[in-house]
Amino acid sequence: MTEIPNPSARDPVPVEVPGADPAGLRVPSSGAHRVVIVGGGFGGLTTARGLGNAEGIEVTLIDRRNHHLFQPLLYQVATAVIAPGEIAEPIRAILRRDRNVRVLMGEVEGIDVGGRAAILRDGTRIPYDTLVLATGATHSYFGHPEWERYAPGLKTLDDARRIRARVLLAFEAAEREDDPAARERLLTFAVIGGGPTGVEMAGAIAGLAHHALSQDFRRIDPKRARILLIEAAPRILGTFSEDLSAYSRQALERLGVTVLTDHAVEDVSEAGITVQGRLIPAATVVWGAGVRASPAGAWLGVETTRQGHVPVGPDLAVIGRPGVYALGDLAQAKAEDGTPLPGLAQVADQQGRYLGRALRDRILHGRAPQPFRFRSRGNLAIIGRNAGVVQWDHVKLKGFPAWLVWGVAHVYLLVGFHNRLVVTLRWLWAYVSFQRGARLISERDEATMALISGKPPAKAPLP
Ligand SMILES: Cc1cc2nc3c(=O)[nH]c(=O)nc-3n(C[C@H](O)[C@H](O)[C@H](O)COP(=O)(O)OP(=O)(O)OC[C@H]3O[C@@H](n4cnc5c(N)ncnc54)[C@H](O)[C@@H]3O)c2cc1C
Repeated sequence: MTEIPNPSARDPVPVEVPGADPAGLRVPSSGAHRVVIVGGGFGGLTTARGLGNAEGIEVTLIDRRNHHLFQPLLYQVATAVIAPGEIAEPIRAILRRDRNVRVLMGEVEGIDVGGRAAILRDGTRIPYDTLVLATGATHSYFGHPEWERYAPGLKTLDDARRIRARVLLAFEAAEREDDPAARERLLTFAVIGGGPTGVEMAGAIAGLAHHALSQDFRRIDPKRARILLIEAAPRILGTFSEDLSAYSRQALERLGVTVLTDHAVEDVSEAGITVQGRLIPAATVVWGAGVRASPAGAWLGVETTRQGHVPVGPDLAVIGRPGVYALGDLAQAKAEDGTPLPGLAQVADQQGRYLGRALRDRILHGRAPQPFRFRSRGNLAIIGRNAGVVQWDHVKLKGFPAWLVWGVAHVYLLVGFHNRLVVTLRWLWAYVSFQRGARLISERDEATMALISGKPPAKAPLP
């Protein structure tokens, strides 16, 4: 295994910012081993924490956003259950006690592998001795990037806000629509992809339409909204056992969701979606079907999988790039039986914990680490009120017990006591009242309204 040289003899190296005062960004101490982590999601953050306060190691964590995001609850922001700030925490605040870790907000656009520096969008070079890439994944539209405009995916807080605005605006537009066919299109919501995100999203839209909004309109009846879940495979929740998958389908149908399996989407446009050669008019389409790893493989010039994953060895080192590591949704790491590990928060989190410890050992003591071993904490998905599925080895739960396990696990994993408390209270309130506390359309987005209603934006108001 590659030994990382003891870097204590290294001179302090300033961060180079073209046109800026380099002294202002000088790395504070001298002689330390510089670890640069790109990405403050589950993988990058836990790696940084593992290296926190390690003497002789200086960590720079770079993220294009200032916050760590708890993606598993994004769908609840998109369906107005919780507010955006409740699932995000400033990365600086999380790492404030780790005195050797500094946080830079910036977008990495490339890596100078030979020169050992990460390059930011504005040309700033951040030199490293060890590089950790944890830049995650993004949506993939199977070669149809033009679909994104009509079928946004759910990955960031902005995505969730945008989807929330579309869903709520669709009901608003329907309330003032006279044409029955146009009204039906506005009240049709299609979720593409029957994995956990699609199932959770479809169940939550059904809860919103059939309960939370049911009394609030006068011309339309939100209970008559059509919610479709479209899946190309023969069953939804394909990573769960067949009986849990069948249960989930029934639970969704009880909520009023129409589940279409064996239906590959052929087109997505302003008019709606096309499946099996038939157009289904739908104003709101949500994409939960495909993901693609971030472009970090291209930065390194390594061969990736078809979905852009960077292959790593058992110690998470990028093959053929000494001193560079990749983890989480970006990496393709393998389980002991040789199967690729799934893109899950628990995988990224465990890898980050492992890598933090392993790098400490290597850098400070020159010890080669044991290989990484993933310990599954089970597969979880929620379908709607009182219904969920949990699968953990041979243990299977469904219905209310699974729903409860899901809730406790997600609150426990949220970062920050404040967020845990507020989310728990929000859920309790939603449970007893059937209401959604975050049903605000913050600004009246003319462009979104135009996209949904299929009508040109209204004239700008006179000053
Ligand atoms: C809607 C949704 C629901 C999910 N539900 C579950 C669930 O229930 N259970 C579960 O286990 N997993 C779930 N996942 C998957 C889980 O969230 C991911 O597996 C996990 O976030 C991966 O962690 P990561 O650190 O690899 O990447 P991420 O958490 O995505 O973090 C990547 C970070 O890198 C930053 N970044 C990216 N590119 C750059 C760049 N060029 N420069 C600077 N910074 C950059 C991003 O801003 C981000 O902060 C869900 C994912 C989604 C989208």
